[in-house]
Amino acid sequence: MKTIALYDNDAFAKDFTARVISCEEILKDEKKLYIVVLDKTLFFPEQGGQTSDIGTLDNISVYDVQIESDVIYHFCQSGFLIGEEVHGVIDWEHRFNNMQQHTGEHIFTGLAHNIYGADNVGFHLSDNTVTLDLNVELDKDQIELLERKANEIIAKDVAVKAYYPNQDLIGAISYRSKKAIEGPVRLVEIEGVDLCACCAPHVKSTGQVGLLKVVSFGKYKGGTRVYILCGMRALEDYNRRMRLLESSYQTLNCKEDEVPDKISGLLEDNKQLKYRISEIKAGMLKNQLETISPDIADVTIFSEDLDAKTMRDGVNALVEKHSGLCAIFSGDDEAGYNFVIGSSTRDCAAIATGLRELLGAKGGGSKQMAQGSILATRTQIEGVL
Ligand SMILES: [Zn+2]
Repeated sequence: MKTIALYDNDAFAKDFTARVISCEEILKDEKKLYIVVLDKTLFFPEQGGQTSDIGTLDNISVYDVQIESDVIYHFCQSGFLIGEEVHGVIDWEHRFNNMQQHTGEHIFTGLAHNIYGADNVGFHLSDNTVTLDLNVELDKDQIELLERKANEIIAKDVAVKAYYPNQDLIGAISYRSKKAIEGPVRLVEIEGVDLCACCAPHVKSTGQVGLLKVVSFGKYKGGTRVYILCGMRALEDYNRRMRLLESSYQTLNCKEDEVPDKISGLLEDNKQLKYRISEIKAGMLKNQLETISPDIADVTIFSEDLDAKTMRDGVNALVEKHSGLCAIFSGDDEAGYNFVIGSSTRDCAAIATGLRELLGAKGGGSKQMAQGSILATRTQIEGVL
């Protein structure tokens, strides 16, 4: 027996009384749950890309609602007796929020259809995200135009009506639809803006959407995916972004408008400092190398935080003075080392191969010079060299 969908005619009813038709106990993830069918319900089930209403039946939590072959299934934490009368209450804040998003989506896609000939080929409305997919590629200017026009329609407070037209005449009516519809077609009309087949509850007039904000968009399957937020969700998102900005300008100790310049300045300072540090380290390394007696043939230096150029320059300087293997390792035992080795008499490529085979080093080079990285301790490396 099909469930009477009370939300179909009255999107603003918040509670109802119904009779229990069936109640099935099942185990899911080792927890008992009850699937309840009523003769009628206000709970909108998950369908058409929108997640379900939540709420209570006789103060028992209803956390999911599904529909199959016109029968609506309530997923509850406790069971009920068949024939029992129950009082259902939907979570109104959740429902109204969903209606704001959904009507907003109709306004936006209706406009995209009217202005750019775009068809809506996908819609997703969950507690976290609202996305709509259009089969036309739209650029930033076009998206901004749609957003502005959508908000103009919200400000005009146009009536939103949901109804079943005479089904014999449905062929003569021009309306948007994502797919072929089985059974009677329910239309949602935003006067003068849009006519679309839809099964979901909607607000009474566009003014109730409050605000529509596009938060991002991008190319998707040859068209465009648009992320929108409406009403309270847009306000919450605005507040979240304000908090992020506030924490940024407080940390940076500047005014809000100065944040981008301040960050660019800090990045530039950081670049200069890194350059200065590497110059100082190169100078220190040069001094260290000069103290080593030319009589020593093989020289291996272990250091921290040397860049590749400083290491190469250092090895080149060593090779001029020392006849054996000259090596510089930069890093530590935990994170591993980067290395450069050079020699005028030994085969560095062969030594790098040895390091790879014995200690799993990466890299390689020529007979004269090789470089790479190695995840091993200083003692292990010295043992191999
Ligand atoms: Zn819809």
